[in-house]
Amino acid sequence: MKNWNLYPIFLFLTLTFFNSCRDAEDDIPEPVPTPPALAISSNVEEVTFHTTDISLFWQVYDAQAPNFSNAAFVDNYFLKGSDELEALYQLKQNSFSKMGNLLRATATHDYYASIRKNTLQIAQETPALRAALNQLKYLYPKAVFSDVTFTIGALSAGGKILSDGQIIIGSEFFSRAENSPTKNLNNWHQQVIRDKAYLHAVVIHELIHVNQYHSALENNVPFTQGASLLKMALLEGGADFLTDLILGVYHNDHLPAYADPIEAELWAAFKAEMHGQDYSNWLFNGSQSGDQPADLGYYIGYKIAAHYFEQSLDKSAVIRQIIELHDPEAFLAASGYADQF
Ligand SMILES: [Zn+2]
Repeated sequence: MKNWNLYPIFLFLTLTFFNSCRDAEDDIPEPVPTPPALAISSNVEEVTFHTTDISLFWQVYDAQAPNFSNAAFVDNYFLKGSDELEALYQLKQNSFSKMGNLLRATATHDYYASIRKNTLQIAQETPALRAALNQLKYLYPKAVFSDVTFTIGALSAGGKILSDGQIIIGSEFFSRAENSPTKNLNNWHQQVIRDKAYLHAVVIHELIHVNQYHSALENNVPFTQGASLLKMALLEGGADFLTDLILGVYHNDHLPAYADPIEAELWAAFKAEMHGQDYSNWLFNGSQSGDQPADLGYYIGYKIAAHYFEQSLDKSAVIRQIIELHDPEAFLAASGYADQF
């Protein structure tokens, strides 16, 4: 499942945390005019989890210590690793071209050094990841699967999907060890760095998006092009909900403490904006969310999907509709979510 025709499709990223630190243009979905054939399979056994970029990263690290030249990481790692790593580098060149700076700064250097062992053990997660993929297939028999490439980046991108459906993970976000020194990292990194349970969750979340994308292409309906806030929140929150269903890990598990007590108010505010295409108060708004947590649209989408699932007698139909989300208004109406307020 290899296809060297790589463009970013989901420029909306997966997790709250990624959304706090991107360049502005990264937030805006940019549909590809003519999507390439997807590199997907319906057979879980055909999925490859690529981890060679991780060992390459540590080879370059060892060769470069302690001076860590930026150029050496670009030439010997980002441009020398997998095609997917290079594609990610092209998207995140601003931060990735300064990898050496991160490793020369004590706080980030010590963090990277602390996750070395965990990153090198990611290959051992393959059976558990494949089990999670099988669980998705069990819940949604039409599921398709794509290869996953685990990379180490510059703490600026957690997960991406290329236009051919391949998934790339920034493993440095999800490899925290018990003794990882994080308190000298910036606030955003302190919030977003997680342990390996979230590595599994980000893979499944992205894979749900691959299936949502595949379904839109199959049915010849727009995916994120012209999508309303409601649709975007349901794509993201629905992916979080299914991930939670499969793994018992809720990506954005920091949101309910803030949002549950004021859910009715949040819903009223969301409802007033949900037909528009301005996502800035609800999604991908890490840098401008003020006192409240960013990305509350993920929370609303999750709650709508969860309410629908709990109320419905036909759970499989709800799962199918989260993935085949071609009519977000009908999904909302059928969910009964709004009737609670
Ligand atoms: Zn997402």
